[in-house]
Amino acid sequence: MKQNYAVIGLGRFGGSICRTLVESGQEVLAIDANEDRVNEYMNIATHVVVGNAQDEMVLKSLGIRNFDHVIVAIGEDIQASILVTLMVKEMGVPNILAKAQNEYHARVLEKVGADRVVHPERDMGIRLAHNLVSKNILDFIELSDEFSLAEIRVSNPKFFNHTLLDLNFRQKYGLTVVAIRRPDAQVIVSPAADQIVKENDSLLVIGNAEDVDLLDKKLNE
Ligand code: ATP
Repeated sequence: MKQNYAVIGLGRFGGSICRTLVESGQEVLAIDANEDRVNEYMNIATHVVVGNAQDEMVLKSLGIRNFDHVIVAIGEDIQASILVTLMVKEMGVPNILAKAQNEYHARVLEKVGADRVVHPERDMGIRLAHNLVSKNILDFIELSDEFSLAEIRVSNPKFFNHTLLDLNFRQKYGLTVVAIRRPDAQVIVSPAADQIVKENDSLLVIGNAEDVDLLDKKLNE
């Protein structure tokens, strides 16, 4: 179903959200105070507007309250990002995603009504650091304080040609295997217990970060 999105702030983050939404067939209104930025998106977004989103009249005249999703992608001006999130919330928008610069900013954004707060720089730093520490951790995403999703390549022959039932990762490491990626890029989602783990498969597992590190060590000893 087509939904309405408004992206406020067309920096690298807001810009790439805008582009990807349009590519997925969504309607996007792109707003930025900087005219040059807006001109860059003239032929990309469905509608573009030059305007200061901190001005309530601007948001009202654009009918922001009628949007299903608003993305507040203002970065450096923390005060503007908070104020805009607050106003959009008060207008009754059901889904607000906001970008935070730091933990304090994130907490305030949550308090004023952001439904989802993202920290792209921090999250990408965490993902890359795990991959730098272990070349077999192909990806790592924190889902919450407690749970992470990791993709780990299996390079220890001890694990090759065993079923998930034999390997018993849930009992041994508290980790659930949610998918297996084969070297030919085939992905087996929600694998059954009799699924066999083969050489150079990678496992997508959910569990806590320490258990992920423990399994990574075992899988690659
Ligand atoms: P990124 O990392 O996404 O490139 P950033 O975190 O450095 O961006 P900024 O460049 O500070 O973020 O802001 C992103 C965009 O938001 C800029 O193009 C800026 O013009 C726009 N912007 C900032 N404040 C407002 C505002 N009050 N109303 C509309 N647009 C704004």
